[in-house]
Amino acid sequence: MHFTDLGLRAEILRSISEQGYDTPTPIQAQAIPVVLEGRDLMAAAQTGTGKTAGFTLPILQLLSSRDTGLSLKRFKPRTLILVPTRELAVQVHDSVRTYGKHLPLKATAIFGGVGMLPQIKTLRAGVDVIVATPGRLLDHVSQRTVDLSGIEILVLDEADRMLDMGFINDIRKILALLPKQKQSLLFSATFSDEIRGLATGLLKNPASVEVARRNAAAEAVAQSVYHVDRDRKKELLIQLIDDHGWHQVLVFTRTKHGADALSERLGKAGIKSAALHGNKSQGQRQRALEDFKRLKVNVLVATDIAARGIDIDELPHVVNYELPNVPEDYVHRIGRTGRAGSSGQATSLVCVDEHKLLRDIERLLKKDIEKRVVAGFEPDPRIKAEPIQKPRSARSGQPRTAAPAGQRKPQRQGQGGQPARNGGNPRRGASHHTGARHH
Ligand code: AMP
Repeated sequence: MHFTDLGLRAEILRSISEQGYDTPTPIQAQAIPVVLEGRDLMAAAQTGTGKTAGFTLPILQLLSSRDTGLSLKRFKPRTLILVPTRELAVQVHDSVRTYGKHLPLKATAIFGGVGMLPQIKTLRAGVDVIVATPGRLLDHVSQRTVDLSGIEILVLDEADRMLDMGFINDIRKILALLPKQKQSLLFSATFSDEIRGLATGLLKNPASVEVARRNAAAEAVAQSVYHVDRDRKKELLIQLIDDHGWHQVLVFTRTKHGADALSERLGKAGIKSAALHGNKSQGQRQRALEDFKRLKVNVLVATDIAARGIDIDELPHVVNYELPNVPEDYVHRIGRTGRAGSSGQATSLVCVDEHKLLRDIERLLKKDIEKRVVAGFEPDPRIKAEPIQKPRSARSGQPRTAAPAGQRKPQRQGQGGQPARNGGNPRRGASHHTGARHH
């Protein structure tokens, strides 16, 4: 199939070909016709599948071909795309701009951690598409700086992540503000009962599309495990980067503190690196990402949530400096590489404390990951496993670290296992992004 077979207008096809794409990905081939028909959609697709264009392209088509009838309505936003994180908001907004470049439609991204005023100004000037995180959107609602009564199309992107992050109440509040008559699209990597519940209330006779889970797609990623002692991981990582000449590596740590410490150590070893986590300001995070994309820094050390939605074409390497507590996060992490058909490498440094986590991951992948030991870094068999610092369990309804639905306990974790700073209010976290819930 070719993009020209999908009935998209010339202006949109032009921006697609400017991006160098000619074949729709499976999710695009399935979702675009359904959305164009005006149907509700429930889509199982993870990042890396091309899902963003899967909803952006047909939405642009619908918006540009529909006459709103009321001239007043022109000043009201017509599409709302809700996303869990500001990084994703920026990315989806970029996609809308890129694909809508040749159309007279306006889009904006609304997220916390930055001033309200510029957003208010943009909203006042009139936009067609709002890409927003729930918390900041509600801030605008309460200040009456946004009017959602003209929304024709709603997208919940990464719905499972939004629920994981404790946004369910915010989402429900937002849904209550939208017109009953609208087209709704729900994208989620997993379908827990909670997601299904949300979908049942929201979607009318939805078409359902599903693409291979990232577990299967992650076949494109060459995975290996290096066994090493816990205290020698930094040294081994430096050696691997040097020996293999890795020039663009996304490294995952479990904690913000760990990310900072590792980034500092790499810097001392002469490796250009930056840390990305929720305690960094929006400016610092954007800069770190840009520098990494442009190869001004070669290693980006990130925590799971901070790295979510990072979209770097052909990122060659992902390193799990520490294995995630939740096996599904491993899949999300390695999904940062090997995207949209390019090949990638995922390397995990595993110490004796993490053997059980590794087994759980292999069980989820339904295969063994290749094990390696670097000469000089053989694990010392006398070292005994120590418990991994687990997030403190906390009150329910708090933002949680990602975990497969059904087996999660509400949990939150501040830096170094300290309680989160934002008083556990997900809205505050979303708006101001203290990052206290982020790792
Ligand atoms: P997403 O799943 O939306 O985060 O997209 C993953 C990556 O695939 C992004 O870098 C897109 O630019 C890229 N992409 C999207 N659609 C296509 C396509 N049809 N052909 C090739 N790459 C694509």
